[in-house]
Amino acid sequence: MGKKFTIFGYPVEHSISPKMHKFAIDGFNLEATYSKTLLEDGTKIKDIFLREFDGANVTVPHKEIAYRLCDEVRGVAKEIEAVNTIVNKNGKMVGYNTDGDGFLNSIKDFKDIDTVLILGAGGTAKALATVFKQSGVETTILNRSKERLTPFLKRGFKAFCWEEFLPQKYNLIVNTTSAGLQNSTLPAPEDTILKTLKKVDFLADVIYGKETPFLHMGKRFDIPTIDGSGMLLHQGVLAFNLFYENRFDLGEITKYMKKAFIS
Ligand code: NDP
Repeated sequence: MGKKFTIFGYPVEHSISPKMHKFAIDGFNLEATYSKTLLEDGTKIKDIFLREFDGANVTVPHKEIAYRLCDEVRGVAKEIEAVNTIVNKNGKMVGYNTDGDGFLNSIKDFKDIDTVLILGAGGTAKALATVFKQSGVETTILNRSKERLTPFLKRGFKAFCWEEFLPQKYNLIVNTTSAGLQNSTLPAPEDTILKTLKKVDFLADVIYGKETPFLHMGKRFDIPTIDGSGMLLHQGVLAFNLFYENRFDLGEITKYMKKAFIS
């Protein structure tokens, strides 16, 4: 019998993970299916997962609850305290987080990144800050509200709310807020962004499928930019290999999964 994979989310209809994984499954001639599981109550993930699936991705809003339900958590997920990938290992739910490393793989063309400014202080910011720190990159957080800064300050990051912030020079600025996803809002006050854009080398956004006002502004300054589709692709590549005990070549998985973005 083939393997069964799914993505848990609420909502989940928009997800292109099934398409990405299907291209990889077909590319390697594997016998497997990948479905979407719409689930409002995240506490049910473990029972459904262990009963029905070999591996799964977890998306908004269930990454933290899935982390807490895992029998074992491996790698950087332990520090992020959220999982986006779960694997059924002999009836045990083992969790990983591939978001941060997926993002790092997506910015490989951006060279000499020593300093980063992360806009936002939510789950994605935490994943990115954790892997930047592990890679020795000096990381600063800038967020609209002060409350969310506490976990970052506790972990030793420089972290500011809008009112406290004095812009410096950064090699990379990443927008991890949802500003610009469904509106034309910028992720920080316009004059703050303008000041940072004058000194920055590269810009990235984790939002994909549209050009955010933030990236649009960067392009006007001729700054190299990248949107969130690379992160989506590479977190999926790493997740797929975890489903198959790292049997495959990441380059080959990438080649197959990329097809989901052009068809
Ligand atoms: P969270 O809800 O955990 O955090 C949202 C953050 O955005 C908070 O810091 C919040 O600030 C800030 N924010 C929201 N609206 C605004 C606004 N109008 N102006 C300024 N700041 C704002 O979200 P996630 O981290 O889970 O997701 C963030 C984004 O990442 C989403 O757009 C999601 O689609 C994307 N994403 C992309 C992935 C990919 O593979 N490319 C993977 C995962 C997520 P405050 O504290 O002030 O409320």
